[in-house]
Amino acid sequence: MLKSFSGQDATSPKEQIAQELRALIFDIQAHSVHDGPGTRTTVFLSGCPLHCIWCCNPEGLARVPVIMWKKSKCVCCGECIKACPHKAISIADDGKTLLHDRKFCDECNTHECVDVCLHEALSLTAKYYTIDDLMEIFKRDRQFWGAHGGVTFSGGEPFFQQAFMLSILKKCREQYIHTAVETTTCVPTKYFMEAMKYVEWVFSDLKHMNPDRHRELTGVDNRLILKNTRLLAEDPDWNGFYIIRIPIIPGINDSKENITETAEFVRSCGLEAINILPFHRLGESKYRQMDQEYRFKDMKPPSEEHMNQIKKWIEKTGLVCFNGYKTPF
Ligand code: SF4
Ligand code: SF4
Repeated sequence: MLKSFSGQDATSPKEQIAQELRALIFDIQAHSVHDGPGTRTTVFLSGCPLHCIWCCNPEGLARVPVIMWKKSKCVCCGECIKACPHKAISIADDGKTLLHDRKFCDECNTHECVDVCLHEALSLTAKYYTIDDLMEIFKRDRQFWGAHGGVTFSGGEPFFQQAFMLSILKKCREQYIHTAVETTTCVPTKYFMEAMKYVEWVFSDLKHMNPDRHRELTGVDNRLILKNTRLLAEDPDWNGFYIIRIPIIPGINDSKENITETAEFVRSCGLEAINILPFHRLGESKYRQMDQEYRFKDMKPPSEEHMNQIKKWIEKTGLVCFNGYKTPF
C-alpha cells in the first residue's frame, strides 16, 4: 500500500468512502440454497419501508439495534439490572420475567446489559458491518458457492440502506461475484433502476393488488411497488432473471380474485413465473423476545391442497408457478 508523507497508509477517496460506509445487518447465512442459483451467502439488512402485519422477521424492521431477551436462557442473576445506567430493567412479580422499559432501551446506544450477561440471554437484533467486513466474509465463503452461487442481499428491505447497497453491489461486480436481491421494490425509482444495473437475479413480493388493502396490511400502498416491478421487467437493457413471489396468507391475500389479478399483472409485465410461499409462524418467538405482540399466533399455514389450488389459478393465466421451495433455483 502507498504511504503518505505523514507515514499513514494513503487510501484513495473512493477507498475511504468504502471503509466509512457501514450497514446495519441482522443476519448473515452461509450455504443458503433458496435465495438464488447455487449455494449462496445471504446478507439480511435491517430497516424496511413496509411493516407487514404477518412479518416473520420483526428484528429486521428497526433502523437501530434492538434488545432481545430470551427467557429460556435467563437465570435471573440480576447482573443486567445492576449494569443498566437507566434503571430500565425490573423483575416481574413472578420473579423470573425481566421487564424492559423500552422507552429507555430504544434510545440506548451503549447496551451495558448485553455486555454483562454471561448466559447469552440478552442480545441485539443487528450489528454494523463495513464494506470491507462483508468482502472478507465473501472471500471466506466463495469456495463453497460453486459455479453458479454468489451473494444474495435480503432484509428487511436491502435498498433501505441505499448508499451502502450501491457501493457493495459495485464492489461485487468488480470481484465477479454473482448478486441477487430479495426486495420489496418499494424504493425510489431512479435509485432502484440504477442499483439494478449491478444485480443479476431479483426476487420481489406482490402481497396484494388492491392499493387500500395493501396499505392496511403493510403500511404503504402498492403503487410504487407495481411501477418499479413493471419498469424493471420491461427494461430492455436489463438482462437479469426476475421472479415474483406471493406470500400466501390465509384469508388475507389468497382469494381467487386477488391471485388471478396478481398473475395477470405479472404476465402483462412479460414475466413468466410466480413462486408462491406459504405463511409460517417461525418468527413468533422473536416477537416475544422484543416485547412485541404477534397478531398471527393463532393463524394456521395454508393447507397443501389450498396451495395446489392457488398454483392452478396461476397456471390458468399462462404462467409457470413454483409452490414453496420446490423450485429449480
Ligand atoms: S444478566 Fe442475563 S441471565 Fe442475568 S438476569 Fe440479566 S438477562 Fe438474565
Ligand atoms: S439497552 Fe440500555 S437502557 Fe436498555 S436495559 Fe440495556 S443498558 Fe439499560
